[in-house]
Amino acid sequence: MRILLVEDEPDLARQLKGALADAGYVVDHAPDGEEAEFLGETEPYDAVVLDLGLPKIDGVTVLERWRKAGLATPVLILTARGGWSDKVSGFDAGADDYLTKPFHTEELLARLRALLRRAAGHSQPQLTCGDLRLDPRAAKASVDGEPLRLTSLEYRLLHYLMMHQDRVISRTELVEHLYDQDFDRDSNTIEVFVGRVRKKIGSDRIETVRGLGYRLIAVGTAA
Ligand code: CA
Repeated sequence: MRILLVEDEPDLARQLKGALADAGYVVDHAPDGEEAEFLGETEPYDAVVLDLGLPKIDGVTVLERWRKAGLATPVLILTARGGWSDKVSGFDAGADDYLTKPFHTEELLARLRALLRRAAGHSQPQLTCGDLRLDPRAAKASVDGEPLRLTSLEYRLLHYLMMHQDRVISRTELVEHLYDQDFDRDSNTIEVFVGRVRKKIGSDRIETVRGLGYRLIAVGTAA
């Protein structure tokens, strides 16, 4: 899952970027409204964390422009304490959730998990596919109760496939959702990572749909 973090305070941005990476997300950071607007319109994020008080273009305006342009990505806004009118204008501009500063990082992560879950049409906090299970709270996965040892990229790959197990996922889509904007993207490397994940979860669990991409197959039953 790939997140856009829009925050102009360098310390907070650094801290949040670290926490999001530790939680298994790949993160792009925009320090002002102009870059945020551009990235949001050009890169396919799974969710956005958007501070409202920003240099160049304020957060509410950025959000209004995104929604006007048809962007449906879930957006969590960060508002200043006591700024109830910010919350109202944020929701009216198309925000899905909010947090008031200062907040606990754990709460931000929990709200993000809920947003991502709802956006993908899941109601359960844990994702399952047959006896394959993934818990976004712990950033851990298991097969038939056996914990899997996954690298962060393998985890992101499996997380994305499990979030969207109802459809075939193209290699391009995987590249766009697993790497940040600075990564030298090569869709061939995806094949390598799919191969590694297959080795760990069982090769019959990820089907290659020729010319289209990959699909997760349910094997076994949920414990
Ligand atoms: Ca700010």
